[in-house]
Amino acid sequence: MVMKEIPKSHPRYFSLETREQLAKAVKKGITHETGLIAHGRGEAFDYLIGEKTIPFADDAERVAAALLILAKNPVISVNGNVAALSPRACVTLAESVPAKLEVNLFHRTQKRVRLIVKELKKNGAKQVYGENVDTSIPGLLHDRGLCSNEGIYVADVVLVPLEDGDRCQAFRNMGKKVIAIDLNPISRTARMAHITIVDNVVRALPAIERWVKGLKHFDQADLQNMISSFDNIQMLRDVLGFLSKRLNSLL
Ligand code: ATP
Repeated sequence: MVMKEIPKSHPRYFSLETREQLAKAVKKGITHETGLIAHGRGEAFDYLIGEKTIPFADDAERVAAALLILAKNPVISVNGNVAALSPRACVTLAESVPAKLEVNLFHRTQKRVRLIVKELKKNGAKQVYGENVDTSIPGLLHDRGLCSNEGIYVADVVLVPLEDGDRCQAFRNMGKKVIAIDLNPISRTARMAHITIVDNVVRALPAIERWVKGLKHFDQADLQNMISSFDNIQMLRDVLGFLSKRLNSLL
């Protein structure tokens, strides 16, 4: 079948292009088919917030950057959707912090892990963890718990774009700080993370990187203050307030 080009002038160009990108990644074996459903939920929330970075997300991106800069051993966890949508942004963010990259999949197969590692390396990553998992996150019984001892297991800060609530909770139980990127402000993940970025991963990763570059030379005490004064639950309430105001103003 010949895929029709989506004209750039189409009002839903970005959204349609993103769907194509994910569909291709499913065909290549990078993304599991259920990733399309997870994307659909994210896309619906993106539609509701207006498909742009809202001020509350920008603020969370700033605080996330501060936490990554201060971390001793930060790791970015990459799944099939993130590898399909933002492989290069994962690599450049990891370089700017610097942070490690580890592949972690809900529907884990060695083949899919290998394909994602290859995709990240094609986008410039020098080292990617997750192929040879040698330990697991206590309390997580499914394959998402498998991890690398040198990567996620020893991390003090984990950035989890598109996460599920259980793993987020398990990370917290291990004493790790969790930064989540999740367009759904009421997901278990969003409520469980220390910092939740209610933004599309495609916008959020480059935004965090810009903040990392901007804040890198700030005093540690100033960065620490940014983190201490951030209240994630209050921010999520503010996002819901923003959403209801926006929806009420549409008709
Ligand atoms: P939870 O356990 O946290 O309640 P869930 O299991 O219901 O989450 P999943 O099915 O794992 O959620 O879906 C992943 C989440 O990722 C959804 O909440 C969705 O809003 C979000 N999401 C999907 N695509 C994107 C994207 N491109 N950017 C940011 N978030 C996204």
